[in-house]
Amino acid sequence: MRIHELAKELNIDSKELIEKLKLLNFPVKNHMSSVDKDTADIIKHEVGELDRKEIEENVIEVSFPITIKDMAVKLGKKSSQLLSDLIKKGKFFNINQSIDEKCAREIAYDYKVNLKEKLSKEEEILKVESKNLEKRAPVVTLMGHIDHGKTSILDCIRKSKISDKEAGGITQHIGAYQVSLDKGKITFIDTPGHETFTAMRARGADVTDIVIIVIAADDGIKPQTVEAIDHAKASGASIIVAINKIDRPNSNADMVKQQLSKMDMSPEDWGGKTITVNVSAKTGEGIDDLLDLIILQSDIMELKADYKRSAIGVVVEARLSKGRGSLATILVKEGILKTGDWCVCGLYSGKIRAIHDDRKKILKEVLPAHPAEILGLNGVPNPGEQLLVVTDEKNAREIISKRKDEETRNKLVPKTHLKLEDLYKKVQEEDLKQLKIILKADVGGTLEAVEGALNKISTEEVKVNIIHKGVGSVNSSDILLAEVTDSIVVGFKVSIDAQVRELSRRKGIETRSYQIVYELIDDVKGAVEGLLTPHVKRTFLGRAKVKTVFKLSRAGIIAGSVVEKGKIKRGSICNLFRDNEVIFEGKVQTLKRFKDDVREVTEGLECGIDIGFDKIKEDDIIDTFDEETIARKLK
Ligand code: GDP
Repeated sequence: MRIHELAKELNIDSKELIEKLKLLNFPVKNHMSSVDKDTADIIKHEVGELDRKEIEENVIEVSFPITIKDMAVKLGKKSSQLLSDLIKKGKFFNINQSIDEKCAREIAYDYKVNLKEKLSKEEEILKVESKNLEKRAPVVTLMGHIDHGKTSILDCIRKSKISDKEAGGITQHIGAYQVSLDKGKITFIDTPGHETFTAMRARGADVTDIVIIVIAADDGIKPQTVEAIDHAKASGASIIVAINKIDRPNSNADMVKQQLSKMDMSPEDWGGKTITVNVSAKTGEGIDDLLDLIILQSDIMELKADYKRSAIGVVVEARLSKGRGSLATILVKEGILKTGDWCVCGLYSGKIRAIHDDRKKILKEVLPAHPAEILGLNGVPNPGEQLLVVTDEKNAREIISKRKDEETRNKLVPKTHLKLEDLYKKVQEEDLKQLKIILKADVGGTLEAVEGALNKISTEEVKVNIIHKGVGSVNSSDILLAEVTDSIVVGFKVSIDAQVRELSRRKGIETRSYQIVYELIDDVKGAVEGLLTPHVKRTFLGRAKVKTVFKLSRAGIIAGSVVEKGKIKRGSICNLFRDNEVIFEGKVQTLKRFKDDVREVTEGLECGIDIGFDKIKEDDIIDTFDEETIARKLK
């Protein structure tokens, strides 16, 4: 086999191959030199190895996704060169297009470059882990219907497990406390309720290991109990049911067990899987059994934490104290939190000046799964936000400034969760196998009928999964549950009040309400089968900034504006931003250049715009879009 033939097989030119052979101590004269088959095989292998090594060593740090323009800079090429190389390979991009990691790696490979993802300081901190996992205490949250005894049970446990000497009469509410038993420790989140629980999860803080569902034995399962159970199930936490108030003469624990059985939660002592325990927060009966069950369950769960890494915690509660500044109750998840540590938390940072427990005792350090109140942050963070220990002040500042940038960017891009219209596309991309629905209806009978009809819609590709159903209007806890589970919310003959609608808009949750059952079923069916029409696509047209606002007697409120980007078109839909938040959605109703009505105004020019919003103000930003309706092709 001649060298030029071999080069062709290796997809390089002969000159390059001859150079490589020199490196491999295998000199040949020229491209017409020939080698036998065995040698050719060895050469192929060696050259392959050489290339692999070269690529491996040629590391360039980038962040994904990356634009073609930045990619060219990193590869030391001109953008035009990179684009034309790609076109030769049948790949068409434009220069500002962002490409994902896989695509970037493929391109880099052709240039014999190995891409390494550049981690932000924050990601670097989170990535560290020592393989030093040790046992930790379980974190427990109580949920259930109001007045069924959550607070009483928490108080009863706290009082009975803290010795008089230790307590000295003083305990303070900090949002979480821990009890030490002979068999182990248990941490309780002291702000019961599924809304707080799910709001924390929505912020990414899944701290609860075990949920205690409290049901009063004289009242039974109530709508809020069902909500609590569904929120707990959706979180994947273990569930223990505490049947409370058994001291009451009219209590009936068996009635509660029967109700549980009907909801697919048969008690263990009835042959089911749900752990239940009868208690009384008033007399203390059964409370020790409840604690034993928690310890038992946590042993089964083999809960562990990394004690050796830099600490990570979660905010349970936070407040501003006069004289002392920001006080935040932190539940440590990993590592050991110490006084003097520099940390970041949400958009705040600081050096921990003091740590207290719920008995006002000063602590030097806090272990994983332990709660404590910390002093030293320069602001009051939100519950559910993460606390990260960083190396120093500079590091903290860097992370905060990056987060602030990100926050501004995120505000400009409305958040989106699953939309019915996109369901089929997601199914096709195989990152979705089920459509999760939160279903609310006006009365019980209808609810069950609609649920039955929806359950029948499941196809081979996608299963309809009703993760929570209930009678009554769509409420904010439904939206939160939808947010953490990526569900859609469907209301049948129920109202959705303006506040809840606004919350769902802000969170990007699809919330639909129907009056006619066929329309509801048709929409879900259409989505599952990929036939839902129409699909609306929005394209950004332009942006204008309001300079002054004036009133025209006939035309209404006109915003005298300057087009900063693209163009403004009459009739196009628009979003009005104030302080980076969308505060109004409407249409460009009137568009004026001086006194004349015009169809469009382009970048750099001044114009008068009426979007039908009379509270428009100076410095507001108007973004306009074209909306295109794309009918879905039938298969
Ligand atoms: P939460 O809303 O679930 O936190 O309920 P609370 O703990 O505030 O309790 C509501 C009411 O029920 C209060 O008046 C309590 O005193 C009472 N209660 C709670 N647990 C028991 C119990 O085991 N037995 C009796 N008899 N009353 C209880």
